[in-house]
Amino acid sequence: MIEASDIYKSFDGNAILKGISFQVNKGEVVAIIGPSGSGKSTLLRCINLLEKIDRGRITVENEVMVSTNDSGKAVYADKKNLRKIRLKLGLVFQSFNLFPHFSVMQNITDAPVNVAGISKDEARKIARELLVKMGLEDKADAYPCNLSGGQCQRVAIARALALNPDVLFFDEPTSALDPQLTMEVLRVIRKLAQENMTMVVVTHEMGFAREVADRVIFMDNGVIVEEGTPEEVFNNPSNEKTRAFIKGFD
Ligand code: ATP
Ligand code: MG
Repeated sequence: MIEASDIYKSFDGNAILKGISFQVNKGEVVAIIGPSGSGKSTLLRCINLLEKIDRGRITVENEVMVSTNDSGKAVYADKKNLRKIRLKLGLVFQSFNLFPHFSVMQNITDAPVNVAGISKDEARKIARELLVKMGLEDKADAYPCNLSGGQCQRVAIARALALNPDVLFFDEPTSALDPQLTMEVLRVIRKLAQENMTMVVVTHEMGFAREVADRVIFMDNGVIVEEGTPEEVFNNPSNEKTRAFIKGFD
């Protein structure tokens, strides 16, 4: 579904991603773990077109988002194709990023109506179904300031799902939440996993990664150090750095 090969990204001459290659298969849940500053968010932002890579190749369902030309420069698809690709990708941030002056319903229906061109009625119908799924059916008219962090995050998930993405990316979806609210959000992600939603989750919740991921990627200092099943990465890591990182969570 997504193939990324040999991705490089620098900020102000500092190499942050140094030749990252990985793939995400349909229906798979991939967890990305690694120390702070290792480039996890940058990687998600690059795949979601919030940052441009310097070099490498990314395809989404065999459509080329970006590839590298003979002189080693990243060349992106044209605007129309990028828009199409962008709609296949959903992203949920740590900090929810809801529009504070929009109701929950408006937050969820804004992009479907104004970006994807879905009718208002249809968008509201989809939003109501998603709110039921998120356990928030009574919150359609509420405003973000009147919701708990966990509720906000579930609205953010509903908002991402409203565009019916093929892959949903999460960047530390629970790290701003206390343990109780974390459980609410993890329950929703677990449910999506059971429905075979393709997901890439950057997380510091090692127990959750172990339980829900089909594959775990350990990043350190801009490279993928190790990749495998949760069993392999957590119980029998082959790399010293992975071992040290996981030990820190015991
Ligand atoms: P954390 O676990 O703390 O979220 P991370 O693995 O997500 O860390 P990134 O946020 O990707 O790490 O950051 C990797 C490095 O890139 C950091 O050194 C960071 O300072 C740098 N960086 C990220 N975004 C920018 C930017 N827009 N401009 C300059 N440097 C940046
Ligand atoms: Mg991050």
